[in-house]
Amino acid sequence: MAPTIARVAVPVPVPSLFDYRVPFDRPVTPGCRVRVPFGRGHRTAVVVELADATRCPDERLKDIAEVLDEAALLGLDDLAFLVWAAAYYHHPVGEVIATALPLRLRRGRAAEPPGEPGWRLTDSGAAAWRNPPTRAPRRQAILAALADAGGALGRRVVAERFPTGGDALRVMRRAGWILDCRMPALPDPLDTGMPPGPVPNPGQLDAIASIRGLMSGFGVALLDGVTGSGKTEVYLHLAQTALAKGRGVMVLVPEISLTPQLERRFRARLGETVRVLHSGLGDSERESAWHRLRLGLSRVLLGTRSSVFTPVADLGLVIVDEEHDGSYKQGEGFRYSARDLAIVRGKRAGCAVVLGSATPSLESLRHALDGRYVHVRLDRRAGTAQPPRVGLLDLRDQPVYGGIAQPMLDRIAATLAADEQAIVFLNRRGYAPVLCCYACGWLSDCPHCDARQTVHRHNSVLWCHHCGRLQRLPQKCPQCGAGELNPLGQGTEQVEDVLAARFPDWPLIRIDRDSTARKGSLEDKLAQIRDATGALLVGTQMLAKGHHFPRVTLVGVLDADGGLFSADFRAAERMAQLLEQVGGRAGRAERPGQVLIQTRYPDHPLLQTLVRQGYRAFAREALREREAAALPPFAHQALLRAEGSDPDAPAGLLEAVAAGLRGTADGVDVWGPVPAPMPRRAGRYRVHLLLQAARRESLHRALRPLPGWIAGLPQARRVRWSLDVDPVDLF
Ligand SMILES: [Zn+2]
Ligand SMILES: [Zn+2]
Repeated sequence: MAPTIARVAVPVPVPSLFDYRVPFDRPVTPGCRVRVPFGRGHRTAVVVELADATRCPDERLKDIAEVLDEAALLGLDDLAFLVWAAAYYHHPVGEVIATALPLRLRRGRAAEPPGEPGWRLTDSGAAAWRNPPTRAPRRQAILAALADAGGALGRRVVAERFPTGGDALRVMRRAGWILDCRMPALPDPLDTGMPPGPVPNPGQLDAIASIRGLMSGFGVALLDGVTGSGKTEVYLHLAQTALAKGRGVMVLVPEISLTPQLERRFRARLGETVRVLHSGLGDSERESAWHRLRLGLSRVLLGTRSSVFTPVADLGLVIVDEEHDGSYKQGEGFRYSARDLAIVRGKRAGCAVVLGSATPSLESLRHALDGRYVHVRLDRRAGTAQPPRVGLLDLRDQPVYGGIAQPMLDRIAATLAADEQAIVFLNRRGYAPVLCCYACGWLSDCPHCDARQTVHRHNSVLWCHHCGRLQRLPQKCPQCGAGELNPLGQGTEQVEDVLAARFPDWPLIRIDRDSTARKGSLEDKLAQIRDATGALLVGTQMLAKGHHFPRVTLVGVLDADGGLFSADFRAAERMAQLLEQVGGRAGRAERPGQVLIQTRYPDHPLLQTLVRQGYRAFAREALREREAAALPPFAHQALLRAEGSDPDAPAGLLEAVAAGLRGTADGVDVWGPVPAPMPRRAGRYRVHLLLQAARRESLHRALRPLPGWIAGLPQARRVRWSLDVDPVDLF
């Protein structure tokens, strides 16, 4: 007897699967989509498993309304991976499985597997062609063409050969002589005859060899390579190895802005089989690439965070580029880490996982130092490029113009005079972080957040970067009416203005989220920089992300002090990574580079370690500190966030949770509840409860019953809450 019950994942915020009766005439398999009655409407859901019995009473058991797929879209192992991820992050399984599907499929649209639409000859069509032949010559010719082609032809081919055959096709279709069909899709050619690329240097050869040694089974390698050491070349060789074995490759990259350069490079070496998945693609394009990868017709996936859920066939290699990058962590809803899940995928597929970075996260570095990951180092820049010289510029007792000290301006002038380029880095967009009235002390506070509204002078607005509130830039003080308001501090707009006034004869390009909002504008700006000789670039961390600027020989960092004194224990790590990454833009070709960091605390030990010994020494120092303080990666955390429009309700909920946990959760420290670092955002009051354990198992044992229990608490009614396992951002 066929199984009668399907357990399906419905995309609703409920942790369990739901049982439905399988229709007699339409068998289902796990991994198919179905439409099921749910609440007052219907939902598109995914069958996870089949069963013969259910605990759901007969009168409440409902039928599957419609089976949407004949063949499974997700394999059993893909489903098992998603169910595991839902359990690990304590997130509703239906929402997790939905994230693995392209949007069109999530919405219940018919799957469009690859292969172009075509016409197929039916038996009666074949009979009409042969015996007796139809007298209409055009119909006869089309039937003959279909028969000659083995019974089917793509519509495009038919339209090309019979440009006026539309009527004939309609008649024959109505007569049942031809049918709609899909032509079989062809796999991308793998024997590409592509150019072999540069010969790897000895360091790259060693790295390739030691990672290839891992590729017969599961293993993780940390490819710890200084900026410009040629990690991508190593990725390409490893991908070729996997392709030669007939396996698929998943390459994750942090940002959309990185993919055009990288995509061109991968395509040039590996050919058409490279498919890109990112949020900038149209829905159909995305779905088509997704099917091709799932069916093994295309073999290499290059994509951002959410690509980690793509069911790439026969996965043989997983690469996470810039593994330290914060964008691998999803910041809302299903808060997964794509880097961590990539390792789980590699483990399930029994293949090698490569984590690449010039500034490895302390989590990955710890495993590499412990020997759980193979530590592969690339210490030399490829070619003849020299590492940049790094120096500090003491801001105290200096003339400073718009945040730029005189010696920095002098260095910029010398760089431009030598027909070279300079980057001026400030990780703050807008004109100034706050507007102030000197007469009465008014500040541009956001009425909805515990934060200031940023001055954007180029658009004449005050803008809260936390809730998005916009208002016109006031011309006089809203509080006392004084006629003059003063921007305090600097953002990239202001730096751009100052530099434009100082260096009017040189091209000046600003790169931040505001100046590159229009599609394609980042590419345009990067092209302008490539084509210019002497030029100035002003920008935020967008500049630090993998772009190649061969003419840049000076990187000026305007403000490094923010990361030195933060309440977030990860702030120093983030700042060190950012400084090393942005410094890595200097002197990548044959020109030696210089990095100059402005600071008011030139004796700070962190800056001293970074400047004298570099990121690696800093990271080892920071790991020792974390171990001494029993902080991640030497402990495991989960953050419970609660927010609501009532000032007391979120804290009330978390107090109840904390009281419940304190008696029962063995081996788990419960800290809080405390107000979030920004206690009010977008008009909602926000409170945190942090759970920490030395052992991952203890933490998860405590977390498992939590979502169900909290949902049932009376205090949860007016509060929005979420659970963040392995949080990286405590804001
Ligand atoms: Zn005032
Ligand atoms: Zn706000």
